[in-house]
Amino acid sequence: MYRLYNRGFGFALILSVLLTGLLSPTAMAESYRADVVIVGAGGAGMAAAYEAASMGASVIVAELDSTYGGTAALSGGGCFAVGTPLQKKKGFEDTPDLAFDEWIRWGQGEADEEWARYYIDHSLHDLYEWLESLGVVWEDVSLNEGNSVPRWHRPQGFGKMLAMKLYEAAQGAGVKQWLFDLRIESILEKDGRAIGVSGSNRTTGEKVEIFGKTVIMATGGFAGSRDAVKRYAPWLEKYDYYVAGNPLCTGEGHEMVTAVGGYLTHMDNVWLYVYATPDYQDADRERGLVVRFFPRANDIWLNAQGKRFHNEDLSGGGSGTSAVLAQEPAFAWSLNDAAVITSMMVMDPAYTADFSRMYEKKLALLNKSPFIVKAETLQALAPKMGLHPETLIETVARFNKSIDAGTDTAFGRNVAGLKKIEKPPFYGIQFFPAVRKTIGGVKTNLKCQVLDKHFKPIPGLYAAGELAGMAGGHIQGKASLEGTMLGPSIFSGRVAGAWAAREAGKGKGFTGKTSTD
Ligand SMILES: Cc1cc2nc3c(=O)[nH]c(=O)nc-3n(C[C@H](O)[C@H](O)[C@H](O)COP(=O)(O)OP(=O)(O)OC[C@H]3O[C@@H](n4cnc5c(N)ncnc54)[C@H](O)[C@@H]3O)c2cc1C
Repeated sequence: MYRLYNRGFGFALILSVLLTGLLSPTAMAESYRADVVIVGAGGAGMAAAYEAASMGASVIVAELDSTYGGTAALSGGGCFAVGTPLQKKKGFEDTPDLAFDEWIRWGQGEADEEWARYYIDHSLHDLYEWLESLGVVWEDVSLNEGNSVPRWHRPQGFGKMLAMKLYEAAQGAGVKQWLFDLRIESILEKDGRAIGVSGSNRTTGEKVEIFGKTVIMATGGFAGSRDAVKRYAPWLEKYDYYVAGNPLCTGEGHEMVTAVGGYLTHMDNVWLYVYATPDYQDADRERGLVVRFFPRANDIWLNAQGKRFHNEDLSGGGSGTSAVLAQEPAFAWSLNDAAVITSMMVMDPAYTADFSRMYEKKLALLNKSPFIVKAETLQALAPKMGLHPETLIETVARFNKSIDAGTDTAFGRNVAGLKKIEKPPFYGIQFFPAVRKTIGGVKTNLKCQVLDKHFKPIPGLYAAGELAGMAGGHIQGKASLEGTMLGPSIFSGRVAGAWAAREAGKGKGFTGKTSTD
């Protein structure tokens, strides 16, 4: 039996259990009904649930995981927002026009401009302030590549707290039916209209059907599945790459939507980070563990020839990824000294789910992974990295000299505050490209209605969040500014929730408020 968070449905549940006992399991699926059915309890799904319930619709949320939160709960929680009080407090002027220009430039001409503009114009009131009204506290705003002003707003408690606030808000709005551990497998349709979904409990296999006047799909991206990435982004096969997204987001939603005629777009646009080391515990060698250093990275990146090749501060999916992909072969050694023991964090659900065990797990990784080498001297480390000792010693000496000189003439890294790499033991961590986020998805209009290949809405069917390329199918284009995954996912969830409620006969649809309203 899947976990049902719904007191009102207790009776129906007991009854259906009894009936299921009398009839054969295949003869009868448990059956539910609501105005709006939502698949996925991540940022988009929870925002949609809140919005639909606020409009007076009855809502059921089906979720594969045993709890709410999805990728939002694993995430940094950073949201791209424009013209916020936090930006102003820090002395930064920002305007939707400026943000739009930079967004479109970063997306290399492939962004859905209408959706990008829609999000940017609404990001102050309908994301930043709206989340604040739910109890989210914005703590900081930081600058990332591609932006001329800081726009990545970090909430207190990161994504976990943000997800909790969304869940509480949805519950407060009246969403009491959360069906966890439930894998939705197909969208039910009648006469070309979506009328519900069906699936099964992921452990017991018990069948479930949920009927609704409208259905919102919010199952996230496909960066949890190497097979899905291979299928949709075959251009990556020439690289030794890994996947590093939410392991439960494997593209099942994409398949369900296409099975009823939905159109996928820009699916080969995926967002890679190049600071992932292969998970030594993954027998299939498909998962990459994202490694970050706090409070600031002090490592240097070396290519297979033992040379630095990039300003390591620019480690993100923009120039960091391009720089590593341009190496032959396309990987980097992250070179560290003893400080790695305290500074390294593994940003993977298997490590972050229980922070109290991070240290122990991190030590195991450092000691057991065949992709991490360690030695008391650089001389001894070099052959383990496949390098000539002189090359490694020379590269590290140059970096240490740049710290003494206070300037990195080779790559322009800001060396202020960095430490020399000099305290044994020395570590080489092999970094490979890893797909963390997927940028394309289900094509929708500005109401989040799923469009078919003729760009006509499929009645009753909506898509939001990373499943819909965050919003509309390809709101970012070819590349993603930091914070433009979670923010637009939540926003499109709100939009989908309101319009799905309206089609179900409740409320007026989404209006919101733009920065200029
Ligand atoms: C570690 C990490 C950190 C990140 N940090 C940031 C950040 O700071 N800022 C930012 O902008 N973006 C960030 N992102 C990306 C961002 O978090 C996601 O793009 C966003 O949360 C997606 O939201 P969503 O609701 O669309 O999907 P998700 O949150 O992924 O939710 C989808 C839900 O659907 C469920 N599901 C999947 N298949 C089924 C099925 N068949 N049946 C039922 N349920 C199903 C999943 O279990 C999941 O709970 C990060 C991503 C990762 C992996």
